[in-house]
Amino acid sequence: MKLSERAAYIKGLIDGLELDPKDKQTKVFRLIAELLGDMAEEIGELEQCYDDVCDQIDGIGEDLAGVEDIIYDEDYDGGIDYSKSGESSDLAYETTCPSCDTTISLSEASLNMGSIKCPNCGEVLEFDYDPDELDSDVPEQSAEE
Ligand SMILES: [Zn+2]
Repeated sequence: MKLSERAAYIKGLIDGLELDPKDKQTKVFRLIAELLGDMAEEIGELEQCYDDVCDQIDGIGEDLAGVEDIIYDEDYDGGIDYSKSGESSDLAYETTCPSCDTTISLSEASLNMGSIKCPNCGEVLEFDYDPDELDSDVPEQSAEE
């Protein structure tokens, strides 16, 4: 039985006692029954709010997971440290080997080849090199909504 139903049940029981309406105790009983009813109603509303908030948190969590996918995909797929793209030296780019975490400096020539062998562990690292994308300071992210 729900709280509101139990409150109504108790109120019905009190009414059924056919207490003297002029008796002070009767008044107290009725006020208590009324209070129980109000409290049950408010708790019901709070529960509804709680459910709504939980749903919203779930939604935020899903959105955040989507954002994390975009951020980490950028790191692992490209493997290019865009903060170095402003430098003009031959070793303008760096990537991190996913197998041994070694930081590898890349020349533009090796970027053009599309892959490089990790000098530490021999893992072949592949990347999609788009010169147009590297020209801009901020890498463009495809809108994934
Ligand atoms: Zn490695």
